[in-house]
Amino acid sequence: MSVRVVARLRPLLDKELEKDIIVNAEGSKDGKVTNIVRIPNPKNESEEFSFAFNGVYDMETTQEELFTNEVAPTLKSLFQGLDVTLFAYGVTGTGKTHTMRGGLKLSERGVIPRLLSGIYRRGRKVAKDSGGETSVSITLSYYEIYNDKVYDLFEPPEKRSLAGLPLREKDGKTIVVGLSERACDDLKDFEKLYIEANNNRSTAGTKLNAQSSRSHAILMVKVHQVSSEGTLISTASAIDLAGSEDNRRTDNGRGDKRIPYRESKMTRILSLGQNNGITIMILNLAPLRSYHLDTLSSLNVSSRAK
Ligand code: ADP
Ligand code: MG
Repeated sequence: MSVRVVARLRPLLDKELEKDIIVNAEGSKDGKVTNIVRIPNPKNESEEFSFAFNGVYDMETTQEELFTNEVAPTLKSLFQGLDVTLFAYGVTGTGKTHTMRGGLKLSERGVIPRLLSGIYRRGRKVAKDSGGETSVSITLSYYEIYNDKVYDLFEPPEKRSLAGLPLREKDGKTIVVGLSERACDDLKDFEKLYIEANNNRSTAGTKLNAQSSRSHAILMVKVHQVSSEGTLISTASAIDLAGSEDNRRTDNGRGDKRIPYRESKMTRILSLGQNNGITIMILNLAPLRSYHLDTLSSLNVSSRAK
C-alpha cells in the first residue's frame, strides 16, 4: 500500500504573541516543483534540515485548495470501489482539527464536510448516469480511541461501557465489533449527526485541550452502490489523530497510561486492511519556535511514512 504524505503549515494566529517563525514550507509554485519543508537543526542553528513530501502547502493555503488538490481526486477511485483513508497527523495546536473539521463558515469548512458534499454529488451523478439502474446510499460510523479504548460516538457517553468496543480481524481488515452505522441521506443529515457526535467526544465539555489532544476521532463513510449486478461497497475514512507530541514531556501527572505506539489500537486500524486503497497523510505544522522539537520529530516520522 502506498501512502501519499503532504505537509501543511498553518499561519500565525491573531492570539499568538510569539512571532518567531522557523519553519519554511516550499510547495510547487510557478511551475517549480519543490515540496520541501525546512527547519533549523536545534543543536546547531546555522545548519538546516530539509524534508521532502509528495505535496507541501504553505501558510496561505485555503481549505478549498487543500481539498481540491488532495481529496477531490480520490472520489473517482472511491466510487470505483477503492477504500480511501485520509488522516491528519501532527502536534497539538498545529491545525489537525481545522484541516479535518474546519470552521462553520462555508469557506472555512474542512476536509470532512467537503468530502461528504463531494460524495453526495458524485452519488447523484452515478445514479443519474446509470438511468436509474444503480442506486447509491451512504452510511456512517464514527468512533474515538481514547486511552486505547474504542467508543462509538453515535452513542451518548452514559451508554458507554468503560471497557470500550473490541476489535476483530475480518477479511484482512480490522473491524470494530458492535459499532453502530447510521444511514445518512444528505449533507443536512450529515451535519446534524456530526455535530451531535462531536459533542459525545470524551473531551466535550472540558476546557482542557490537553485532553482532547489525546483522542483519535475516526469517521467512516460507507458508499453502497446497488445495481442488478450486485452491491459495491467502499469506505472513505477521515481521521483526526491525537497530538503526536511526546506526552512524557508535556505530561503534568494526569496519570493516563501511555500506550506504546506500535501496540496501540490506532496502529492496528491503520496498518491492516486497505490492501488496495489510497491513503493520504496530512502532516500539520505550526511555524513557531516554541514547537521546534515536536515539529522536528513529526517531520521525521511522517517523511518516513512515504
Ligand atoms: P489541533 O487539532 O492540531 O490541535 P487545531 O485545528 O485546533 O489544532 O488548530 C489550533 C488553532 O489554530 C485553532 O484556533 C485553529 O482555528 C487555528 N488554525 C489551524 N490551522 C489554521 C489555518 N490553516 N488557518 C487559520 N487558522 C488555523
Ligand atoms: Mg484537534
